[in-house]
Amino acid sequence: MSSENMASLSLEDGRSIVNLLECPVCLSTMKPPIFQCQNGHSVCSECKPGLQKCPTCRGALIDTRNLLAEELAYKVIYPCKNTVRGCCEKVSLEDMKKHETACPHRKYECLVAKENGCAWTGCRSDILRHMEEKHDKYIYRSDLCSFKYEEFNFLQECKFSCIFSSCGEIFWFRSKRDPEKRKLYEVVQYIGPKENASKYAYEHRLVSPSGDQKLTFINVVKSDTDELKNIYEMRKCFIIDYDTLEIFTQNGKTFEYKIKMCRQK
Ligand SMILES: [Zn+2]
Ligand SMILES: [Zn+2]
Ligand SMILES: [Zn+2]
Ligand SMILES: [Zn+2]
Repeated sequence: MSSENMASLSLEDGRSIVNLLECPVCLSTMKPPIFQCQNGHSVCSECKPGLQKCPTCRGALIDTRNLLAEELAYKVIYPCKNTVRGCCEKVSLEDMKKHETACPHRKYECLVAKENGCAWTGCRSDILRHMEEKHDKYIYRSDLCSFKYEEFNFLQECKFSCIFSSCGEIFWFRSKRDPEKRKLYEVVQYIGPKENASKYAYEHRLVSPSGDQKLTFINVVKSDTDELKNIYEMRKCFIIDYDTLEIFTQNGKTFEYKIKMCRQK
């Protein structure tokens, strides 16, 4: 909603609609469904189950919803729930879910949680510190990252994550081996505001053991909000089939390649 529309919704005494929608118990702005007491006082759906009586008049709480309040709730804009972590965005209820899943100030899970069974969550600015303290061997600190496998097993299903701390940013590298499809999938995702992802690219560099075959594959970095499953299915990443991959392995086992991170011009 534009700020112009918002202005027309302000009340004459200066209190905004948002204040009218404040839940008397938890003090946050109520979101539908909004319930009421027998005398018409509203209470939010999260507080209602814990209440015996109306917090305003001690009257009985009923299951009738306050549709007018709900309609107003759809018209106002709410601050993002990550305000405490520095987000200044205000969005309508309709856009809230979309914003909060992509909010740059949202809580992140540990980027190598699956590999380590780590339950850490925290904001973007704390990710690197957490990784350094707990998972240092999963950090690649160069714009040119080398991967070397002594025993690369084509037949083993394998998923792997690590991070690249390069270009002054944090990138999330994910790799998947699929023996059934006989393919290797790899993608680099940007940790941070979605719009920054496409400013970067990653370049796979493979060289055959004899040196006479080279493969360079350049992809634009994806956002951390893009679902990994979709990236793989849409083939928006590095994909190489095993027949091609074998060209670049020594004795079918030793496999070495490099990934270069760069800022796009
Ligand atoms: Zn409440
Ligand atoms: Zn009441
Ligand atoms: Zn936000
Ligand atoms: Zn962790």
